[in-house]
Amino acid sequence: MKALEDKIRAEGIVLSDQVLKVDSFLNHQVDAELMLLIGQEFAARYAEAGVTKVLTLESSGIAPAVMAALALKVPLVFARKQKSVTLKDDLYVETVHSFTKQQMNEVAVSRKFLSPGDKVLIIDDFLAHGEAALGMARIVEAAGAAVAGIGIVIEKSFQSGAAKLKEAGYRVDSLARISSLTGGEVRFAEE
Ligand code: 5GP
Repeated sequence: MKALEDKIRAEGIVLSDQVLKVDSFLNHQVDAELMLLIGQEFAARYAEAGVTKVLTLESSGIAPAVMAALALKVPLVFARKQKSVTLKDDLYVETVHSFTKQQMNEVAVSRKFLSPGDKVLIIDDFLAHGEAALGMARIVEAAGAAVAGIGIVIEKSFQSGAAKLKEAGYRVDSLARISSLTGGEVRFAEE
């Protein structure tokens, strides 16, 4: 998606060979117009997929995911990160390794908001090693619902996530695919 690649080129900050910072338009300040375009692009790609819900992980997934939900005219559910809870009867809970914090997080969704009939589009801001997306997919499947696909704003194609998700049989749609961050420079994968 050209507008997104242009924005990454103009404002992305390469923190290391592994990490890109995009806090001027996605992870802290949010460019709402760009998020709307991103949401519309996901919605166009999944227009025929029978999506009934969008699922993301708080907090950085919410901006693109709410725009996709708006364009698809379905609700957005965001999984909440939380400290260990003892009472889990009304929740689907999964443990997910956090790429940015290098720690395990519990992520939870209320049983009220996912049902066996749902077809769920999972959306996240970044794809690195696929832990967040796979955790959300496990939650969808625990509810007896189906994963329509996984929509990613920025995929780092040189890390293992995309291959892992495709091997697991999921459809993956990434709007920007970065092939390398070495030398402080962002390189995009060929379409
Ligand atoms: P994964 O679970 O695929 O290993 O990592 C994806 C999650 O880690 C995303 O939800 C995102 O919040 C965070 N993440 C991974 N790589 C980056 C990155 O390069 N920059 C930022 N800002 N977040 C990242």
